[in-house]
Amino acid sequence: MPRTSPRSAAVPEQLGFAGMPERLFVCTPSKLGAYTDCPRRYRYTYVDRPSPQKGPPWAHNSLGASVHTALKNWYSVPTERRVPESLPTLLKATWVREGYRDVDQERVTYRKALGWLETYVTGLDPQDEPLGVERTVATKTALLAFNGRADRIDSRTGEQGPEAVIVDYKTGRSGLGADDARGSQALALYAYAAQRVFRRPCHRVELHHLPTGTIAAHEHTEESLARQVARAEDTARDIIAAEKAVAAGGDPDAEFPTNPGTLCGWCDFRRTCPAGQQAQAKDPWAAVEHLERPPD
Ligand code: SF4
Repeated sequence: MPRTSPRSAAVPEQLGFAGMPERLFVCTPSKLGAYTDCPRRYRYTYVDRPSPQKGPPWAHNSLGASVHTALKNWYSVPTERRVPESLPTLLKATWVREGYRDVDQERVTYRKALGWLETYVTGLDPQDEPLGVERTVATKTALLAFNGRADRIDSRTGEQGPEAVIVDYKTGRSGLGADDARGSQALALYAYAAQRVFRRPCHRVELHHLPTGTIAAHEHTEESLARQVARAEDTARDIIAAEKAVAAGGDPDAEFPTNPGTLCGWCDFRRTCPAGQQAQAKDPWAAVEHLERPPD
């Protein structure tokens, strides 16, 4: 009898019969990123059923979701209402309250977020209609059935004519540089998919960091996009191999090893994971505390 973990339901989705093509590996950027960051976190999220209980919600996730949804809704109101004065209503309507230490901290964070948005929208053309806002783009490769939701896909005119540009909003503490835009597999996969969905070139990817009002950009080439797709396929092969090994009786702990590091303190599964239990616990509001202090 094959050994199977009682908590592991590694379904051999990709197991094909001899001579039959194997099914494509269905993935999103966050699914691939979870495995790259930590195979054990991937297992807890996508393989084990029931999934282990997560820790409490994080305030920084609430903040990010609130700002993202407010910007999404900015584009859903008529152009004459795309003015800074609309932002308090938009942000209040989408504000997620979970994870904050107390109401005072939540208020401070709300005011900061509103300030970021007010500055950000002054740089937007209210008449501009992006190709997509929180738009899911999907495509297939020989191995992957990829889908992902881009924050915004702009239509711009490049040297060769109309182009699509991937825009990703960031609300974390640190500013971002061109290396972050260049190295982001998620942005590259969005660009690769957007080219196929919109049938126009999409090489430029941008990280818009709202707290500092800065934009980190990178111009991909067909080759650099292909390299990122190849890397994503390599990751998918590793995941498929681990899932098959577990389905065949392998030890799930060995096939999906832990990757202890700084991410553990922020991991939703820290309390479940043997490596995570060694890490210093973070308060759910730890990543927004700096907003209460005067700027450095
Ligand atoms: S606590 Fe650390 S090692 Fe454990 S699953 Fe999370 S990131 Fe991986």
